[in-house]
Amino acid sequence: MRRDTEIHMRGGVITERESDYCTIRTRVPAGVVTPAQLRGIAGIAEKYGSPYVHLTTRQTVELPRMNPENLAEIAREMAENDTPIGSERDEVVNIISCPGNERCVFANVDSISLAREIDRRLFGREMPVKVRIAISGCPNACTSPMLNEIGVIGRTEPIRIPGLCTGCGTCMQYCKEGAIAIKGGVSVLDPSKCVQCGTCVRSCPFHLLKSTGPHFLIVVGGRRGRHPAIGRELITVRDPNLAALVVEKVVQWVYRRAWSGRLLSEQLDDIQFEKFREEIRSQIPVEEPELPGEDQSR
Ligand code: SF4
Ligand code: SF4
Ligand code: SF4
Repeated sequence: MRRDTEIHMRGGVITERESDYCTIRTRVPAGVVTPAQLRGIAGIAEKYGSPYVHLTTRQTVELPRMNPENLAEIAREMAENDTPIGSERDEVVNIISCPGNERCVFANVDSISLAREIDRRLFGREMPVKVRIAISGCPNACTSPMLNEIGVIGRTEPIRIPGLCTGCGTCMQYCKEGAIAIKGGVSVLDPSKCVQCGTCVRSCPFHLLKSTGPHFLIVVGGRRGRHPAIGRELITVRDPNLAALVVEKVVQWVYRRAWSGRLLSEQLDDIQFEKFREEIRSQIPVEEPELPGEDQSR
């Protein structure tokens, strides 16, 4: 059987259990496809004999049961459709994102735009270990950013303006964390319980809860699979370009310093996470003015 070896070696071409066939995984940053792209994918699937398409856990579209002899033509048509062959091996794989502030009422940040920017900078880069990146617009964390090698979470930290609170209790009712109490006729925040979802800021009918604006918490070293682990907090930044830069610096670190065959989270333990965190932080410009509470999360 004739195979296009160069294309077949790509991470997005996966040999199936029945090895005469392969599955083709696409590059779909943030899992967003236009109706026209969907029609294009459907047309390619029908033309080359896929009985169905598979929507994956990493927000990509897979075309199963593809004949390897057709790989060159399929690759060309997928690229023309702007849904090129993706990645799956030890690479930066499809960047996933929730709807973020484009549609979700809970969102603090534009997670889709950040996913596209990270995709533009890093997608498909070959690595010693697979690097999964997930972005969520708020601490509800619908894309499980804490369970990816790199996760980004949009947050908003509340600040109450002293002296103005009426003690109406609306913010307390909206807070799902029990982080707000009414004491002495005013709302009092317990930062140790607050997850910085920003809901209370939006709930105050008198607009007395403020924040310095939404920001991005970047977490590193999470994983799913056989031995799940929660990612650890690396840094907090407000500028989306800095968030993308942090992710890029972490990926560069992994490319240069990590080695294959060992989970990234374990490697971060080996080198001591604090040292890793300081190394990354030293490469990120300091934002002014600093976020309230930033010292705790950076
Ligand atoms: S993570 Fe937050 S912003 Fe994103 S979809 Fe879930 S609730 Fe909405
Ligand atoms: S930001 Fe969220 S968790 Fe924190 S106090 Fe407000 S509602 Fe509660
Ligand atoms: S909703 Fe506003 S006014 Fe009411 S208790 Fe909370 S901060 Fe005070």
